[in-house]
Amino acid sequence: NYNFSAGPATLPLSVLEKIQSEMLSLPGVGASVIEISHRSGPFLEIAGAAEANLRKLMQIPDDYAVLFLQGGSRLQFSMVPMNLLTDEKKSADYIITGSWGKNASQEAVKEGGVRKAWDGSDTSYTRLPAASELDLDSNAAFVHITSNETIQGVQFAAEPEVGDVPLVCDASSDVMHKPVDIKKYGLIYACAQKNAGPAGLTVVIMRKDLLERSKDSLPGYLNYKTHADADSMWNTPATFGIYVLKLVTDWLIDEIGGLEKMHEQNKLKAAMLYEVLDAYPEFYQGHAAVDCRSLMNVTFRLPSDELSAEFISAAKAQQLTDLKGHRSVGGIRASIYNAMPVAGVETLRDFMKDFASKKA
Ligand code: PLP
Repeated sequence: NYNFSAGPATLPLSVLEKIQSEMLSLPGVGASVIEISHRSGPFLEIAGAAEANLRKLMQIPDDYAVLFLQGGSRLQFSMVPMNLLTDEKKSADYIITGSWGKNASQEAVKEGGVRKAWDGSDTSYTRLPAASELDLDSNAAFVHITSNETIQGVQFAAEPEVGDVPLVCDASSDVMHKPVDIKKYGLIYACAQKNAGPAGLTVVIMRKDLLERSKDSLPGYLNYKTHADADSMWNTPATFGIYVLKLVTDWLIDEIGGLEKMHEQNKLKAAMLYEVLDAYPEFYQGHAAVDCRSLMNVTFRLPSDELSAEFISAAKAQQLTDLKGHRSVGGIRASIYNAMPVAGVETLRDFMKDFASKKA
């Protein structure tokens, strides 16, 4: 069975096997990871290894903090403006390239000023802005982007140029899919349940100087500084999620061979599916403009809703599941995150060719 869910999403088989083998007892511990104190030696070792792996894989510089939080990326839609808007910098710029960016900006409005530096809603979020289209405020508290719009399947291939204003990125659905230059960012956040592990853990990577913006009057949990000062152990963190993140990053380092290699594999997988869209453009109508296509979520429509439904059920009969597009846009969405094996994408590609040759 290959599961193309947009999240929670498939995990590497070797990671699942490792979890299974350690679930009753961690080696040398005599209890499972979900039964031991977050302050115990064995757990601190796991959390330390998860952070060290992330720092190594993503080449996170020392002047960036790594936080393990909860509340999903939706909570970050609020925490980012709560912490980063200041009395001097009361407004932030949002580059809105899809549904998640729109959601993020709607939550931010509740915390302070939001300017839309660009909004692709007029064209149903099919494309990214050209640099000349961005209306940026050089005094903004931050600029927010969504690196990969999970619902529309539109992804930035490179960061927009935003000058000295800190770039904040929702990388929920493409974190660790390729190497990025962390220094270009002020803050990156990602819920784990697509490319990094199970739901319940959210990773925040932020430049340490930005921690100074967090006001003491914020509720403790909602203040980044609380978590940074307590090494993400102010409250009980998502221990199982941190454990799985450690295993996923072990897999990326030891089995995949790092993020360059992961990127090569992701490009190859995405190209297989986009080649089919390009071969049958009338039948498989891609949502994203060709130069904005996502390597993680391949989105398209068939000529009718009936054909889409038939596609989904015929795919399911071949053990290819969770291909239904998001309820807000319909059609088909194949999510092919890091853990989706090449063989799974090959099987879907062959199914798509076969289906088109019969029905187009
Ligand atoms: N941002 C993006 C890009 C997403 O894909 C998701 C996915 O569900 C979210 C935010 C919301 O994350 P969560 O459900 O963890 O709050």
